[in-house]
Amino acid sequence: MARSGSLSLDTLVVAAGRPDRTPDAPLNVPLTPASTFVAGGELEYGRFGNPTWQAFEDAVGALEGGRAVMYASGLAAASATLSLVPEGGVVVVPQHAYNGTLGLLAEAERRGRVVVRAVDVTEPGALVEAADGAAMVWIESPTNPALEVVDIAETAAAARTRGALVVVDNTFATPLVQQPLSLGADVVVHSATKLLAGHSDALAGVAVVADDATYELLESYRRMHGAVPGTLEAYLATRGLRTLAVRFERAQDNARRLVERLTAHPQVGDVRYPGFGTIVTFEPAAGAEAAHRVVTSSRLVVCTTSLGGVESTWERRRRWASEPETVPDALIRMSVGIEGFDDLWADVEAALGHA
Ligand SMILES: *Cc1c(COP(=O)(O)O)cnc(C)c1O
Repeated sequence: MARSGSLSLDTLVVAAGRPDRTPDAPLNVPLTPASTFVAGGELEYGRFGNPTWQAFEDAVGALEGGRAVMYASGLAAASATLSLVPEGGVVVVPQHAYNGTLGLLAEAERRGRVVVRAVDVTEPGALVEAADGAAMVWIESPTNPALEVVDIAETAAAARTRGALVVVDNTFATPLVQQPLSLGADVVVHSATKLLAGHSDALAGVAVVADDATYELLESYRRMHGAVPGTLEAYLATRGLRTLAVRFERAQDNARRLVERLTAHPQVGDVRYPGFGTIVTFEPAAGAEAAHRVVTSSRLVVCTTSLGGVESTWERRRRWASEPETVPDALIRMSVGIEGFDDLWADVEAALGHA
């Protein structure tokens, strides 16, 4: 297990972002539903900060090795990060980055705010080549849903030499697998809605940076644009984060076993899995209609979008009109949960019987 400071990441998910150990202090940072604070201190007003956000930020900051700013959602964190690009700047992005990120960038391009360069990250050298003259290189690794993996250290070094800011959406890998700031990235972005919070009951996002000046920009963006998380969501996200290491380990174990079974299954064509993590994709050999029948006939695995919860979920990605056409029509993205493996496989196998 990788380490951050003197404590292992397994320990930090449990121990970081707690109140000081003064006698009779509560174990958890409490929910502080306050729209305003008594004047004269650092907080002053509810849009400027909140102790419940701070607990989550301290914990994620410790895990990623930087200073964190929590937002209302992953996309709010992405918007704040994109605000670092100067007017008309070039943003490089994987062609299979998260659908909402591509949508946000397309919208910014339509308005003349940025110029987007979408790249096939499986083409050797493509990301680095596209970084020439770019203001920002946006990395997502693994990509959602194509599960392509990028060498973050190599890309970050090349992009920084060319003067581009390097951003990594670390939603799929989590800091347990990789800590992009230590690999040379400037900003790490998460949809905390997914694995960090982990229970499909809260929307939240977070951006983490090493550099104080960038931290100030991201924090003031939240303040001025009002992209603030709810207090309850911040509490739930911190509570969920406490079990990240055990949830991840169990779900990853289930995912690896599923990949073995899926690969050997006669109804299944292409199976994708980067070798780590909790997300698997596969294509029923009989095509998109068969994929639709599979995801709608499971009884345990829930047919839904989103991912990263304790429960297994799946969907056929191309049911979304906005999904890039280079994503195979029959591709099923499965978010593997922490259920007992035999129950999970029995359900998947039965559903595949409808392919
Ligand atoms: C879901 C997701 C987002 C967006 O997060 P929200 O919390 O839904 O706004 C960003 N990046 C990735 C990789 C995601 O899966």
